[in-house]
Amino acid sequence: MDKNPVLIENINEMKRVSKNLKQNGKTVGFVPTMGFLHEGHVSLIKCSKKENDITVVSIFVNPKQFAPHEDLDRYPRDLERDLEICKENGVDYVFYPSHEEMYPENFQTYVVVEELTQGLCGAFREGHFKGVTTVVTKLFNIVQPDNAYFGKKDYQQFKVIERMVKDLNMDVNVVGCPLIREEDGLALSSRNKYLTKEERESALSLNKALFLAKELFENGETDIKVLKEKMTDLILCHPKVREIQYIEIVDPETLKPKEIAEKEDIIALAVFVGNTRLIDNIQL
Ligand code: AMP
Repeated sequence: MDKNPVLIENINEMKRVSKNLKQNGKTVGFVPTMGFLHEGHVSLIKCSKKENDITVVSIFVNPKQFAPHEDLDRYPRDLERDLEICKENGVDYVFYPSHEEMYPENFQTYVVVEELTQGLCGAFREGHFKGVTTVVTKLFNIVQPDNAYFGKKDYQQFKVIERMVKDLNMDVNVVGCPLIREEDGLALSSRNKYLTKEERESALSLNKALFLAKELFENGETDIKVLKEKMTDLILCHPKVREIQYIEIVDPETLKPKEIAEKEDIIALAVFVGNTRLIDNIQL
């Protein structure tokens, strides 16, 4: 029978455990999440299990990465189910701190990555990446992992964390893992829970548009204007799409927008389906 993961809610306890593991020569793999786990998260856990002696998953819906009008209060949560998934996948420790534990009164220190956070989601989600880099720095300081696993579903986030770790000489190896999709192509996301049946149907327009653009590119179309137009047309045919927030084709390293698409560029997009903001991306 699978062993229950140890649930830790206290920062000092987590630090003590990590320090002990390291002193005993164990390598620690870390998977930071906001919970409501799905196969995307599980793929990161599996990567970590393969490459480390011990795997720690954190579950923390980080208030600092939500703007005031965003979905912090209704973000889906189910600790019991998450613990079951962690158990089934052999997670050793689940770090589950409260908001008060992470952000006590008078908290006032932030980590900011300047350029990579300007475009894509950063242009629309005020303060989002500042919240992400700050919480990930705190989590790295607490868990002290050797390796940390991030999904390329959030490609910009992955590049921002990679940059932060380099710039601040953090002693963590950042590993980017492939984006996991449902069988019909929808990128797995905790936010898919918000979608009605009809909305879920319209949500498929994101991946359909990305795969269409990739196919056009592979058949020789490199003009970004044309690629974006075709994607926009396809997406707007879907009745529950409320708004395309952005479609960008960017350099995979700098995340700067391109005029002519090249192999390895990233096409990224954010679309509101009903009231739910979904993101997806593909590499050419
Ligand atoms: P979240 O709980 O949404 O903050 O995500 C936690 C981690 O899981 C992040 O590194 C995400 O990029 C990753 N993740 C979320 N969805 C997927 C997916 N569909 N495929 C791969 N990784 C994912």
